Amino acid sequence: CGIVGYVGPRAALDVVVQGLRRLEYRGYDSSGVAVVSAGGQLQVAKKAGRIENLDTELAIRDISGRTGIGHTRWATHGAPNDQNAHPHLDEAQRIAVVHNGIIENFSELRTALKNAGVEFRSETDSETVAHLVAAELAAGATDLAEAVRLVCRKLAGAFTLVVLDREHPDTVVGARRNSPLVLGVGNRENFLGSDVAAFIEYTNQAVELGQDQIVEISADGYRILDFDGTPVDGVRFTIDWDL
Ligand code: GLU
Repeated sequence: CGIVGYVGPRAALDVVVQGLRRLEYRGYDSSGVAVVSAGGQLQVAKKAGRIENLDTELAIRDISGRTGIGHTRWATHGAPNDQNAHPHLDEAQRIAVVHNGIIENFSELRTALKNAGVEFRSETDSETVAHLVAAELAAGATDLAEAVRLVCRKLAGAFTLVVLDREHPDTVVGARRNSPLVLGVGNRENFLGSDVAAFIEYTNQAVELGQDQIVEISADGYRILDFDGTPVDGVRFTIDWDL
């Protein structure tokens, strides 16, 4: 029920886990993170239960990198267990996806992917997106934002998606339809969150994503597109909120 994304000079794991804690008030049954190292290694940890369970797992892992995503789940499709917790990966473990909402047409999409030989590792509607993004990249999408855009056009329902590609370790891509997504604009770092609580301690500059929009963040900037690929000027606002 909460989403965080980060690119910048800080240890992404700390920013993401802290963001998830700030989103705990929304309620959740599982949590997880993915961080890509500068060398392009995708590191994933996810656990059913409270964020403390994830912390226990993280304590015995050595996850480093400046680009990361995180999720707190409120299960709608598939039991709240470790396997169904987000992030979800494609078969090559190149793409990591976190999703809030419901992909209404996931069962058709999943069947088509299974018929094409894709093996699923969870019961979620969300895992479909990871395989679809990988397929668009394999089919020649120019970059991650373009792949996510093409996938979004095939999805029905409500979604906030945040996606990481180990082959593009300097960017994170987000997308939304019928579900919220906010960009936090920092100084040489940028954030994504399902609400501003995810990054409020790092910046008070934000851009609310509009319906059917894609955002790509890097440390140095951001770019917003609609689902047709047309560039969009995000409207920046100052968060007026005392911590
Ligand atoms: N439908 C997805 C799932 O069940 C996402 C749920 C959520 O919004 O956390 O995994």
